[in-house]
Amino acid sequence: MSMDRPMWIANEHVVPSAGGWIDSEDPATEEVLGRVPAGGKEDVDRAVAAALDAWDGWRYTAANDRAELMHEAVAKSLDASDDLVELLTKEQGKARPEQEEEAEWALTSLRYYAELGRNGLGRVIPSAEPRTQLNLVLKEPYGVVGAIVPWNFPLLLLSWKLAPALAAGNTVVIKPSELTSLITLEWIERCFDHFPAGVINVVTGTGQEAGEALVAHPDVRVIAMTGSVATGQRIASVAAPMMKHLHLELGGKDAFVVAPDADLEAAADALAYSALFNAGQVCTSSERIYVPSGQRDGFAEVVTEKVRGLRLGHGLDADTDMGPMAANRFRDKVANHIEDAVSRGATVLTGGKRPDRAGYFFEPTVLVDVKDDMVIMQEETFGPTIPIGTYDQLDDAIARINASPMGLGATIRSSDPLTIKRFYEGVKAGTIWVNDPLTDNYAGPFGGMKMTGGGRELGPEGLETFLESKHVHWDFDQAPKDWWFPYP
Ligand code: NAD
Repeated sequence: MSMDRPMWIANEHVVPSAGGWIDSEDPATEEVLGRVPAGGKEDVDRAVAAALDAWDGWRYTAANDRAELMHEAVAKSLDASDDLVELLTKEQGKARPEQEEEAEWALTSLRYYAELGRNGLGRVIPSAEPRTQLNLVLKEPYGVVGAIVPWNFPLLLLSWKLAPALAAGNTVVIKPSELTSLITLEWIERCFDHFPAGVINVVTGTGQEAGEALVAHPDVRVIAMTGSVATGQRIASVAAPMMKHLHLELGGKDAFVVAPDADLEAAADALAYSALFNAGQVCTSSERIYVPSGQRDGFAEVVTEKVRGLRLGHGLDADTDMGPMAANRFRDKVANHIEDAVSRGATVLTGGKRPDRAGYFFEPTVLVDVKDDMVIMQEETFGPTIPIGTYDQLDDAIARINASPMGLGATIRSSDPLTIKRFYEGVKAGTIWVNDPLTDNYAGPFGGMKMTGGGRELGPEGLETFLESKHVHWDFDQAPKDWWFPYP
């Protein structure tokens, strides 16, 4: 049974002022699950007005009370977790264990920032006249934050923005992806409805209409967005005249390096996971593989065997390892990257096409004989591909990794300290994984260098981005100073 979900503004359901509705599908069956409003400027105006109205009250709500509200959202989410995970799986596609992990991580983010928000409001710095002056560095909320979220981890990547933004005292207008708006509305309405009206709002719609109206709104001082480089560039150009604070988490082209000392069997297990988790639709998916030339054939054979054993299916089926891609159009990009590689000499060892079944599935694909100038080694594929290239010297591999304009993450498999240190010092990326790819740590910053955008989520850095610094120089003495006019 399909459902229509209105938007959520000031704790009320809102149907769009204009525009129509957008279908949301189950990518494993192509069945329409429901519809959400195609919101536009008027809806954004309404949501931002509600958020601005709520800001003064929220800003002056005690940090301890804000933390308790966030913990209550966690408790409600745990109560609703079966329903949430089921809808998340139906709408987003990845296998249920991966969805459960996402839901759990999202709650950890709420818990972490609920506590971090109680911690401090800035610092006191030494004054020029310590007896009569006080110098404060205050950390203040910006006001209204626009949170623009992608579809690949709709709850997790929302929580990395929502939790710190709220803990810092901002109010939030969320623009979810068109592909995962049902689950976003379900989570917010069901688990955050005890927050004061206007503190959290959801406007659904396309990026071009609802998203851009949010970016262009003069009362939204921060745009926190995760998505593609192209969308980030567009947002930056719209926001630039208003000098907004931008927090951009953009695309990646992560490398996975097998060092000469690595255990090939275990490296193949790690690679299958880091390249094919969420059907390869992870910003930190391993998308370029570098293995020592002499070990390539043996490694490719083990990887291929493991990949052939993976079971495709609906994310809710207990025996599914890999679900579908999130939408049909994403399969075209994967097919184009493979086609370009094969036309220029690459060899497909397994996969390479859409299976003959309903749903937006794409076979997990292993390629060898790839070269760095092929599209599959240069542009983000965001699909289930494992292109295996070779290297002879580690420094050469590092230089080739750094040739990418993207700098999100990179993985090395090794036990040799000199190799590992050389790798993590040499590679320009925001996260380096040694042996254990894709694992985040809530206390450690996550984000990318170079064209990945430079934003950092998680850790104290993830809170800092939602706070602006204000220096208060306070002299208790009203007497004129010697150095004022007239000069001696
Ligand atoms: P996308 O850029 O198409 O969309 C992201 C969000 O931006 C969506 O909500 C979309 O509606 C909105 N949007 C689109 N155009 C807009 C505009 N002109 N103005 C305002 N908003 C607009 O990305 P996607 O396909 O949803 O997600 C995949 C991309 O996200 C990949 O490139 C991936 O690497 C990246 N990603 C990055 C990270 C990270 O942390 N660096 C994490 C996950 C995904």
